[in-house]
Amino acid sequence: MIEIKSESEVSLIQEAGRIVKAVLEEVSSAAAPGVTTGELDRKAEELIKRFNARPAFKGYKGFPGSICASVNEQVVHGIPGKTVLRAGDILSIDVGVEKKGFYADAAVTVEIGDTVSRGARELIKATRDALNAGIKKAVQGNRLFDISYAVQDYAERLGYSVVRDFVGHGIGRKMHEEPEIPNFGKPGTGSRLRRGMVLAIEPMINQGGFEIEILSNGWTAVTKDRKLSAHFEHTVCVTDKEPKILT
Ligand code: MG
Repeated sequence: MIEIKSESEVSLIQEAGRIVKAVLEEVSSAAAPGVTTGELDRKAEELIKRFNARPAFKGYKGFPGSICASVNEQVVHGIPGKTVLRAGDILSIDVGVEKKGFYADAAVTVEIGDTVSRGARELIKATRDALNAGIKKAVQGNRLFDISYAVQDYAERLGYSVVRDFVGHGIGRKMHEEPEIPNFGKPGTGSRLRRGMVLAIEPMINQGGFEIEILSNGWTAVTKDRKLSAHFEHTVCVTDKEPKILT
């Protein structure tokens, strides 16, 4: 069952979402050659606490960071630490925040320095645009997998692949609620979307094949072929008009 949120619940998710947005902006602008992912993590945690909120990822199933920081071939769940960012890297930053009992979740992929390859830049743009294609379908009356199909279709037309092993999710009083939102699927199928559903839509798009592996740290997913991967995510509320982006 997909929960329908009241207007006041949506406002509370949006309050958490504004913090997520601010943290992503701060961390993105601090992400530069020579900086470690651990430093970015500390910056994020400080800022979240300044907002009297809680970093939702920290301690979640034992995850040690306040952000996920996934470099280059890392798809998601990169553990922030001693990794030094280098010019030409791409970095996916995922942030979740809990405020007053409600969660919001979003991610971006950014370029490190000015020497990122054209291929990497195009992958980043395609992933952002695939997310936007999915968000456009988050409208009352559509079906859940209309979102999934829109993401897949956008990415695959450009020759990329979509990760199968991780999916988007409902969000609200818990970080992960029903439904699961795959980034692939058949249009016109899945649950009917209704006003007040809040969804975290999050395509992970690979330059090569869609297969992934988990590193020996038990967390970090990398592409099996070690080609690049990008990740964008927004928390979105379904309305009867335009989808409302809460992050
Ligand atoms: Mg998420």
